[in-house]
Amino acid sequence: MQENNSCAPLIRVKTENVDQQDTPEGRFPDLKMSFLPLLCNHCSHPPCVDVCPPGALAKREDGPVILDKEVCDGCEICIEACPFDAILYNPEKEKAEKCNLCVHRIDRGLEPFCVICCEGQAIHFGDLSDPDSEVSQILTKKEAILLENPEGVEPSVYYCPPRAPRGL
Ligand code: SF4
Ligand code: SF4
Repeated sequence: MQENNSCAPLIRVKTENVDQQDTPEGRFPDLKMSFLPLLCNHCSHPPCVDVCPPGALAKREDGPVILDKEVCDGCEICIEACPFDAILYNPEKEKAEKCNLCVHRIDRGLEPFCVICCEGQAIHFGDLSDPDSEVSQILTKKEAILLENPEGVEPSVYYCPPRAPRGL
């Protein structure tokens, strides 16, 4: 099922391992593979919004940073402004594209599609301002970190430490 009108080969969540794409490190049987999903951080003070000349990008009051494709003129200024490489240029549509946090789903009380389809159930979504929410509870129990970020941007995506490796 295609969500959010993504256009192959463009994707919303990039997954990379440390050195070489899809190649484990080490020698058998001591193999290790690390993945870091890179996505829009839905920053509290998003520089992409500040630089967009026609105002196609906006920060919603409930958190998501959204891109209005009808307003975007494809100038690509936001791509340079985003410290997380979270905005892509779609040459077919001549527009910028980014994760809109599936607002078409969360406005209907559903979770973003990445949360639903993640095989390892590694992605959690919720309200960080609510101390009782599942995501707030996770952050009280795990030493989650933010990706390195410029001062004042305040990303909203936290990364928990990796689980212990599974034995073969
Ligand atoms: S991660 Fe990039 S695209 Fe997403 S809100 Fe922050 S600056 Fe904008
Ligand atoms: S590419 Fe689109 S969203 Fe990005 S700055 Fe230009 S008009 Fe705004």
